[in-house]
Amino acid sequence: MLNIVLFGPPGAGKGTQSEKLIDRFQLVHLSTGDIFRANIKGETELGKLAKSYMDKGELVPDSVTISMLESEVNKYADPKGFIFDGFPRTSAQADALDNFLTSKGTEITAMLALEVEEAELKTRLLNRAQTSGRPDDADPEIIQNRINVYNRETAPVADFYRAQNKYRGINGIGSIEEISDRLFKAIETIVV
Ligand code: ADP
Repeated sequence: MLNIVLFGPPGAGKGTQSEKLIDRFQLVHLSTGDIFRANIKGETELGKLAKSYMDKGELVPDSVTISMLESEVNKYADPKGFIFDGFPRTSAQADALDNFLTSKGTEITAMLALEVEEAELKTRLLNRAQTSGRPDDADPEIIQNRINVYNRETAPVADFYRAQNKYRGINGIGSIEEISDRLFKAIETIVV
């Protein structure tokens, strides 16, 4: 299987680039943010819980997020692989994912980390707010909180994959096609 963690701060382009990667490599795209938003729309209990954290730019608790992610993975009988987008976002999630994939006889192939500086992230998120309808994109204070949470809790996850020699940094500045080309090349050098 080809299992990619697509990593990067809020606004780095993970969702956009996931679309390109699933087309190219026929992978299943699992975005924890999208799954939570679908639950909010469907007014499920999980959605109500997630919304109370997401609207403030906080992380949904690990236990909830991990069990949701595992049950999503289990829905696919014979996948070519997964793109994990927005997961793992904490060291506990990274540990849980490793153990879970090991129990299924597979593992993460690589973490591809989109690198974009903070000023550019803020511009992108505020622009996205005009069309995304996401409350967490519209307010500069919430955006700042998401970036702070990323720096404090999520950025250390990169070290987890660095230690396994699975980390690849990708320049996240440029056109959508330029960036997807960089991602494709990175995957092709890992896989062959
Ligand atoms: P972005 O990368 O632009 O912040 P996402 O759609 O990935 O957007 O996530 C939106 C929000 O959903 C996060 O701010 C967080 O509240 C919640 N969320 C998504 N993934 C996770 C996760 N793995 N663990 C905890 N919370 C998460």
